[in-house]
Amino acid sequence: MNNLTNKNSNIIAKYLRWIILGFILGGSMLIHFLHLFAGQRFPSVHAICPLGGLENLWTWIAGAGRGNIQKITSGTMTLFFFTLVLALIFGRAFCGNICPFGTLQELFGKFSKKKIQLSGKIDNAARFFKYLVLIFVTIMAWITATLWISPYDPWGAFAHIWRGKELFHEYAAGFIILLIVLAASVFINRFSCKYLCPAGAVYGIISKISPARIKRNDCSQCGQCSAVCPMNIDVARIKTVKSAECIVCNQCTISCKSKTNDIQITFFNKSIKPLAFIIIIVTVFFGSLFIFNKTGILRVTVPALESVLESGNFLRIIDIRGSMSIEAASEYVGMELSEFYNLMEIPKTVPKETWLRDVSLHVPGYDFHVIRDSR
Ligand code: SF4
Ligand code: SF4
Repeated sequence: MNNLTNKNSNIIAKYLRWIILGFILGGSMLIHFLHLFAGQRFPSVHAICPLGGLENLWTWIAGAGRGNIQKITSGTMTLFFFTLVLALIFGRAFCGNICPFGTLQELFGKFSKKKIQLSGKIDNAARFFKYLVLIFVTIMAWITATLWISPYDPWGAFAHIWRGKELFHEYAAGFIILLIVLAASVFINRFSCKYLCPAGAVYGIISKISPARIKRNDCSQCGQCSAVCPMNIDVARIKTVKSAECIVCNQCTISCKSKTNDIQITFFNKSIKPLAFIIIIVTVFFGSLFIFNKTGILRVTVPALESVLESGNFLRIIDIRGSMSIEAASEYVGMELSEFYNLMEIPKTVPKETWLRDVSLHVPGYDFHVIRDSR
């Protein structure tokens, strides 16, 4: 009876994980769509990407919490610190159960059963590459005080896919990287998570001291757990998975057919059912975001124009966003429209309804962020 319960519980865990991943991926796409077409009331992809917090960290410290680099908000810092704590407690469970880019790669992996496994040394060196990306991206962001990675960011490109050919204006490189990642993910599970993603690198380092661990008892070593692991960890030969590569997706524990629960997810050495683990991680994640939002520390959008006008607390030039029209931005900062055109060096021929990030479509070479940051 107990075995049957475990089996059923694992089946539910498997489908529940996919339902949650699908919901998060679909929800992210909807938010990105609304940001592009309904404006700054919805957060930009960069504002809700936790890694933006690391790139912003130096500017944030130097500005004593008041300064942020372009496209990053104070709420991004909350997300960044929160996901670090999450990694400390639950390992890379964010990667395995929440991250929509990880889900997208996993979905592409479903297109082919044939998988390529890089040979040991090449695989190890390639996995190390994501740490170099992390160091390089962070240094560049800290030196330039800009979101340096933005044009090369495959997830950023995916979030702007709704813009059609205008996507290539800002994200041509990111789009090419996105195509490479998705094509590679068909044959190499979670290609970016293994070799490229700097966020996964940070969470992987922190996960080394997490109390959440996959553990295996003496078993028949049938190899099923190793076969399903998307990160190609040879779980069937390891007693305790301590690898920074483990994304705590529980695919190994769910797939185990033994009647004696030979492989388990443990927390402080106490075993938990995969189903319970998935429910806990998602509840903690979204519950915390809900609380942060209610307490005002997860502000990833600018306030509504009406409330700014009512309060008389106009935004600073540095706080205006590319998703504001020229007219709305002038009102947000409390300036006459013509004065604002002059300040932002926008020719008067550009219609006032134009979003600031689209001024470049009228004026080749115009870079809204550069001009804004220099004011
Ligand atoms: S490694 Fe990066 S892309 Fe992959 S799941 Fe983690 S954060 Fe997402
Ligand atoms: S070892 Fe298990 S939990 Fe870790 S990544 Fe592989 S399948 Fe997922």
